[in-house]
Amino acid sequence: MTDKINQIKQIALEHIKQAADSKALDDIRVRFLGKKGELTDLLKTLGTMSKEERPKFGALVNETKTFIENYLQQQLDTLKQAEMNKKLESEKIDVTLPGRIHRRGAIHPVKLVLDQMESIFLGMGFTIAQGPEIETDFNNFKAMNFQDDHPARDAQDTFYIENGKTLFRTHTSPVQARTMQLNAPNPIRVICPGRVFRRDDIDATHHVQFHQVEGLLVDKDVKLSDLKGILLEFVQKMFGADMKIRLRPSFFPFTEPSAEVDVSCIFCHGDGCSFCKQSGWIEVLGAGCVHPNVLRLGGYDPEVFSGWAFGIGVERIALLKYGINDIRYLTEGDVRFLEQFR
Ligand SMILES: [Zn+2]
Repeated sequence: MTDKINQIKQIALEHIKQAADSKALDDIRVRFLGKKGELTDLLKTLGTMSKEERPKFGALVNETKTFIENYLQQQLDTLKQAEMNKKLESEKIDVTLPGRIHRRGAIHPVKLVLDQMESIFLGMGFTIAQGPEIETDFNNFKAMNFQDDHPARDAQDTFYIENGKTLFRTHTSPVQARTMQLNAPNPIRVICPGRVFRRDDIDATHHVQFHQVEGLLVDKDVKLSDLKGILLEFVQKMFGADMKIRLRPSFFPFTEPSAEVDVSCIFCHGDGCSFCKQSGWIEVLGAGCVHPNVLRLGGYDPEVFSGWAFGIGVERIALLKYGINDIRYLTEGDVRFLEQFR
């Protein structure tokens, strides 16, 4: 029997030496030391032995089991160490490699100006109203008191859809119409920021799409001097405390009286330069008192209510504020241009 034990021992050691990984060692453990393992099987023959033989044989089997067990563990440690070294080697970090550059984005100048405009008017108690970019002819023109033969209705100025019934809004005024229809006869104090579309030749100062912020106030006892005060406040917050404004008579279908609003030239501060054509003034927006027809179509009695409105071109403000000389830079997506607004 001793020979049998030594034989099993030799075979086990040989297998352990050749085991390639911890899984193979586990299999060996089960084969020789498990409940149904080869050494355990030998113990079942104890019953056939004499009283004197049994303790010696049992001790020898246990001694062999311990020996194999220790050798197995030793091999397992060696294999695990080798596996760990291999893993560390493959995951080695080269700290001398250059890092990856994270490119910083920038907020678009139109968005910068829009945010600032909204913040200025919110600070003066206005709320923000928004509407769809595709509008009905009624909201875009009729509700704004455009006569049917008004030149702006011409297909040359407007992108029409569906035989003239719907269109890409040419201004944000339809949001004023919607706000009045929704709120009449309650007072209104809103700004309507958004994108508008015109059929136009694109050059340094014209584009087929741009942004407007329109303002509308409807209430009882509304004064034009309030409008002037609010526009002055806006211009000074946007361009500087030394800015002045002036109103010149003008014509818009939706306001009466109407005014073009000029600000003192941001380049020469009123002294006169080539930019302002020596006048000292730059035209920046239009405004006026809401036309009685617009009030009536919006659901307000013009005998009781009055109001004023203004419309500001956001791109115009951005070009002036950042000294940009061509509106096309704003839509070309040239990273070198946009990077300057970080
Ligand atoms: Zn000037």
